[in-house]
Amino acid sequence: MYQANLKRYEQMQYRQVGQSGLKLSVIGLGFWANFGNIDPFENQRQMVRQAFDLGITYYDLANNYGPEPGSAETNFGRIMAMDLKPYRDEMVIASKAGHRMWPGPYGDGGSRKSIIASAEQSLQRTGLDYFDIFYSHRPDPETPLEETALALDQLVRSGKALYVGISKYSGAQTAKMAALFADLHTPFIIHQPRYNLFERQPETDLFPVLTDLHKGAVGFSSLAQGLLTAKYLHGIPANSRAKQTTNPFLHPAQVTQTLDTVQALNQVAQQRGQSLAAMALAWNLRQPALASVLIGASRPEQITANVQALQHLDFTAAELTTIDRILAQ
Ligand code: NDP
Repeated sequence: MYQANLKRYEQMQYRQVGQSGLKLSVIGLGFWANFGNIDPFENQRQMVRQAFDLGITYYDLANNYGPEPGSAETNFGRIMAMDLKPYRDEMVIASKAGHRMWPGPYGDGGSRKSIIASAEQSLQRTGLDYFDIFYSHRPDPETPLEETALALDQLVRSGKALYVGISKYSGAQTAKMAALFADLHTPFIIHQPRYNLFERQPETDLFPVLTDLHKGAVGFSSLAQGLLTAKYLHGIPANSRAKQTTNPFLHPAQVTQTLDTVQALNQVAQQRGQSLAAMALAWNLRQPALASVLIGASRPEQITANVQALQHLDFTAAELTTIDRILAQ
């Protein structure tokens, strides 16, 4: 029987989400890749245990994570039942609806019909009574923002979610959603944008809005799907996301295009005495709007290595200037 590491809270840090009362571990574990039916279950189980033993409290799911879609939630539910059920109140478990999940007009988007049904399915797959955070996974141009806001609000009112969030909404859309949620008194606390050394748009568009609204963020693809690690410095290994045909979001061409920049960033990381992955996560965490940064992983050792970021979070002005110069080249 699994016994969690008694020292798990000594090695992690926790940050408040905006001005809410909720704190997240500054590193969270995401289930987008490597938790599907095609992935070895025992490895998934070890990754979740490893994360929990390292003090990670934030677990990020979505209806469509797999493949096949839904299987990451099912596998997470099995791991909860086998290992983590006694620790449920030490975990923040999130899910999302908004990307295509089932056929027909109701399996996608932000309608009330789709979101309420999807959340119910996600609860059934995970075996949970409620999600700590439930997100609208994307803005849906065919659904009024008010309808999506009301659907999320209903999840809270019906006890299926404690807090709500939104993902990939622009700064302007976020301000509109925040106003709707304020009218409804919905506990909207968090945004989930893509944010990493290669994707800095939130710095100008989103983070100022979140700061004004006293909301928090959790960044996704914090390592640019593995590009911001030492993984591809010497070619594309067989056991990598860029080689996988089941993941169409990272191509060998992207590895080649970013290699010079990654090598230069790696030198800065070495001078700081940390791995490139650890530096990339530390760099993300310098943003005060971010309560947490999500990592993906394909094996438990990557999670352990990434938590090392906490050993050196500060940057000198000279390091930041060097990084900006490398990114501008
Ligand atoms: P990352 O950018 O963290 O990439 C994860 C990949 O990086 C791993 O699978 C692994 O690649 C590689 N990696 C991680 N650590 C190391 C290490 N120490 N050394 C070498 N390689 C390493 O994250 P994801 O793109 O997976 O996104 C994280 C989470 O964010 C998702 O799981 C999901 O929860 C969320 N997300 C949300 C989205 C949204 O629309 N809201 C969209 C996308 C993600 P390999 O597998 O090759 O070993």
